[in-house]
Amino acid sequence: MKIILLGPPGAGKGTQAANIVKNYNIPHISTGDIFRKNIKEGTELGRKAKEYMDQGNLVPDELTCDLVASRLSEKDCESGFMLDGFPRNLFQAEYLDKFLSEKGIELDRVINIEVDPKLLVERACGRRICKTCGATYHIKFNPSKVEGICDVCNSELSQRPDDNEETVSNRIQVYISETKPLVEYYTEKGKIANIDGARDIDEVFGDIKNILS
Ligand code: ADP
Ligand code: ADP
Ligand code: ZN
Repeated sequence: MKIILLGPPGAGKGTQAANIVKNYNIPHISTGDIFRKNIKEGTELGRKAKEYMDQGNLVPDELTCDLVASRLSEKDCESGFMLDGFPRNLFQAEYLDKFLSEKGIELDRVINIEVDPKLLVERACGRRICKTCGATYHIKFNPSKVEGICDVCNSELSQRPDDNEETVSNRIQVYISETKPLVEYYTEKGKIANIDGARDIDEVFGDIKNILS
């Protein structure tokens, strides 16, 4: 299964990706997670990406596209993959198309999680993540059992530096101008599945399972 998760920041892509991975056993490729890992490890890529991420702007395509191409070329992607947060603009979508068609790979589905921008700021600002295992929580909508502690691995939870109101607002604007056109792009290709993401996490996942079955 080869799928893309599309949707604005805070729509629930990462949350649903974790559910999908449990059920379908395909690698989860999140460009945001890859950048954050590089920042944590202090790499050159991390240093460059951080500048853009802190502002809520897109990391330049030349730092992003090759990264995804080399990840998709790894062996574990042969039987399928799930892209989360890539592509994020038309250039990246066309780059991906070219890369896949050269390899004779066809995408199965683009799952578009739709959430009204009004709900996104609260979602993103209340997000907490586990720095150790990557699990995602929400202080109100999906709290951990013990406040501030990861259910999975007992590590401390933290807030992403870009999950503040100002940066989230910019990310939503960037989504509307750069990423949202991809909904039309993949609709024209007959790949899109639109999902109402403004419901419970389990209900959203129920729809995703129906689409993928
Ligand atoms: P994305 O990867 O699209 O940016 P996340 O999956 O990280 O989004 O979700 C953003 C925040 O919203 C997280 O704190 C998550 O726990 C919470 N969340 C995810 N899905 C839902 C939902 N259906 N209803 C309420 N909160 C949600
Ligand atoms: P969210 O889904 O909440 O927006 P992500 O973890 O997907 O969060 O992305 C965080 C940040 O990483 C983005 O705001 C952007 O700066 C950068 N980023 C992630 N994926 C891409 C991409 N495909 N192209 C450019 N920048 C990206
Ligand atoms: Zn954890």
